[in-house]
Amino acid sequence: MGVPKEVLVAGAGIVGINCAIELQRYGCSVTIVDPRGPGNGCSFGNAGNVVAGAVVPFSMPGNLLKIPSWVLSPYGPLSISLRHLPRLAPWLLRWLKASHPANVRRISKAMHALHGETFDLYLPLLRELGETDLIKKSGQLYVSRHPHGADGDALSGVLRAEAGVLVEALSGGQIQDLVPALSNAYRSGIFFPNNGFCANPHRLVQVLAGAFVARGGTIHHNALMAVERGPQGGGTAILESGARQRYDGLVIAAGVWSSQLAAMFGARVPLEAERGYHVTLPQSGIRLNLPVTNYDLNISVTPMEMGLRITGGAEFAGLEAKPSWHLADRILDLGAITFPGLERSGAKKWVGVRPSIPDGLPVLDCAAGDRKVIFAFGNGHYGLTQAPMMARLVKALMMDEQPSIDISPYSVSRFRAVPPVS
Ligand SMILES: Cc1cc2nc3c(=O)[nH]c(=O)nc-3n(C[C@H](O)[C@H](O)[C@H](O)COP(=O)(O)OP(=O)(O)OC[C@H]3O[C@@H](n4cnc5c(N)ncnc54)[C@H](O)[C@@H]3O)c2cc1C
Repeated sequence: MGVPKEVLVAGAGIVGINCAIELQRYGCSVTIVDPRGPGNGCSFGNAGNVVAGAVVPFSMPGNLLKIPSWVLSPYGPLSISLRHLPRLAPWLLRWLKASHPANVRRISKAMHALHGETFDLYLPLLRELGETDLIKKSGQLYVSRHPHGADGDALSGVLRAEAGVLVEALSGGQIQDLVPALSNAYRSGIFFPNNGFCANPHRLVQVLAGAFVARGGTIHHNALMAVERGPQGGGTAILESGARQRYDGLVIAAGVWSSQLAAMFGARVPLEAERGYHVTLPQSGIRLNLPVTNYDLNISVTPMEMGLRITGGAEFAGLEAKPSWHLADRILDLGAITFPGLERSGAKKWVGVRPSIPDGLPVLDCAAGDRKVIFAFGNGHYGLTQAPMMARLVKALMMDEQPSIDISPYSVSRFRAVPPVS
């Protein structure tokens, strides 16, 4: 079919907007549809960590034994709604399967391929747009109360070493020197000099959306509801308003809402709504120049334009469940343990839904039988970091070019059967 002229992108989160800009740069006429407008889904309120060196999957060996304490401890990071459990069970089985050491190594390599170049891809574009402070390569600090606790287990160290991720081990004194506002209870730290953060994830999407429109792109506040596939490829999208939109190429980048859209092309993807919370404190009283992760308490603290943002939690309750605001209060308590001088007034709470796939890798692939329909979703905990590389790969698929990395780990056909737990 060749290079598509008219491309429709469903979803204006950080993934969709990066894809749209990249396709536009290569000469496609691009339209985005999104019922919420740019950056108002999960991309609105994430922790902002841009983690080139994140190569340790969430599903690691030994996780099964940790689940009870994660769920039962009053400050545990995991929350599962009993009502949702029967629907979640097959996803959990796949998640456990991913924790097999052989799978962990494969997943880690595939994470590194998506994360490693994130600053090299974001920074030139943002410089072009005059936004030099939105993403900063500040380094990132993990801390733990336990000696060597921040390092994680031995396998985490091996995965980082294999990927060539730079880390520096810090003592309690060095942690205090780097971040004086932290509690002095922390005995071990690791510093990732090549990680950093986005100072306002929502504004990032808005800035990119503005550039996309200024360069001739169109954004409609509308949802993709159905498609009529054309006999020669391409097709017509039916939008929620009833409008019809012709396309030669289609990108499904609708975050957690993508599985229904992918199903229109026969794909069945185990995509879960994994909710997380943030609390943003406009006047926290804490001076911080880099993001800090409390490894023991599973929270992340990031200095943002809007104040200090504390994030955390993994809640599985289904897409439509009401927010559990006590989980945001819990995160705020954990932030105050980490930074004893924290000023809590004016706290703004938010819940967002990570589009999570059990092996922690996104789907990046063509639809079966239609190479101009491309799936780009399921970025779970790392969508902000992965988005620019996802966009490069989507563009390569759309243009029939060889992708710059092996994309087989992200294939949509990897979900054919629920694997037995070994
Ligand atoms: C608490 C928390 C902390 C996080 N921290 C980090 C972090 O530090 N670093 C990091 O890299 N990642 C982080 N993430 C993950 C990251 O935020 C997500 O992976 C990312 O935002 C997903 O982007 P997206 O574009 O796929 O989805 P979204 O931002 O959700 O965008 C999807 C869009 O699709 C639209 N849509 C839905 N249905 C349709 C339809 N039918 N037609 C058209 N459009 C549709 C929606 O309205 C939405 O705007 C965090 C997430 C959470 C919740």
